[in-house]
Amino acid sequence: MSNIYDLVVIGGGPCGIGGVVEAKANGLQKVVLLEKGDNHSQTIRKFYKDNKRVDKEYKGQDSTIHGVVAFEDGTKETTLDFFDKLLDDGKIEAVFNCEVESVKKVGENFEVATAKGLYTAKNVMITIGKMGKPNKPDYKIPLSLNNVINFNLNNCSKGEKILVVGGGNSAVEYAIELCQYNDTTLAYRRDTFARVNDTNLEALNELEKIGKIKVRLNHDISGLDNESGKVKVIYTNGKERVYDRVIYAIGGSSPVDFLQKCGINMDDKGNAIVDENYESNIKGLYVGGDIVLKNGGSIVVALNHAHAIIKDIIKKRA
Ligand SMILES: Cc1cc2nc3c(=O)[nH]c(=O)nc-3n(C[C@H](O)[C@H](O)[C@H](O)COP(=O)(O)OP(=O)(O)OC[C@H]3O[C@@H](n4cnc5c(N)ncnc54)[C@H](O)[C@@H]3O)c2cc1C
Repeated sequence: MSNIYDLVVIGGGPCGIGGVVEAKANGLQKVVLLEKGDNHSQTIRKFYKDNKRVDKEYKGQDSTIHGVVAFEDGTKETTLDFFDKLLDDGKIEAVFNCEVESVKKVGENFEVATAKGLYTAKNVMITIGKMGKPNKPDYKIPLSLNNVINFNLNNCSKGEKILVVGGGNSAVEYAIELCQYNDTTLAYRRDTFARVNDTNLEALNELEKIGKIKVRLNHDISGLDNESGKVKVIYTNGKERVYDRVIYAIGGSSPVDFLQKCGINMDDKGNAIVDENYESNIKGLYVGGDIVLKNGGSIVVALNHAHAIIKDIIKKRA
């Protein structure tokens, strides 16, 4: 049997899982999923709070599924189970702890360099999302504060005084979760939460009304200091407050370095330039899911990208 894969999929999130499942369903035999984490769906595992409601129609984006993956509303846990089952039932070859370093076209095929060796493939899908590189503030975070600065809910303890920074659904959901056991403040630099869905907004208003969350709009931060191991937050309005922990939920950005290394053309914002089938300037090299979007993204959108990519690969193969 040839060692050349029909398809190597890089990144085991919804788009990558959609890619391998659609590929198998459409007759591609030799397909592998390479994921840098120790399991699939690292964005869902690390950035969704436990028991989070997972909406199929997310932030008003397309919720019509075009392919074979019948994803439905659920919770973080049922969504992870659903993707587990897809990989198991499809007998998908998936390699974890396998960070891909680069993709290079050599002749007709691609060489995919990973921490675990080289894979050769006729087609490659890059679906590495944006959350591997969460946005950081533009002021410097003192190194000595690293263990009390987060970009998700990992390592938070009960009873801490916590500041959540951000104005999107993730920031609001983090604050709602944390306020059950912590003294929680949510700070956002603008004057309204324009991007937050109605359910989250209602819950936030209710919790603010009963004093469980302090909401600070028009609060931008100019810097942080270490005050005896705690975080002194210096706001641009001159106020200073001390917290046990600060959590930034200010989105994620395109892993530009990776795309650049692969030779993929990008726009001036670092987003990959692709055609209507998500194929890049390099024939046979596709980019799908969050990483290819200027803003937003959802599970259904990612699954639909995967469907369009596989359809294109099959068409070009015929
Ligand atoms: C807090 C939060 C709540 C959300 N809630 C919802 C919701 O309710 N409903 C909804 O539809 N959407 C929701 N979303 C959006 C949804 O999670 C994303 O749109 C979706 O996960 C995008 O899928 P993806 O496959 O493009 O990328 P990701 O899910 O980000 O997956 C990328 C994968 O690639 C892996 N990877 C990265 N670099 C490499 C590398 N070099 N080599 C190998 N693997 C790599 C990562 O570890 C990761 O597992 C939410 C997002 C967040 C952050």
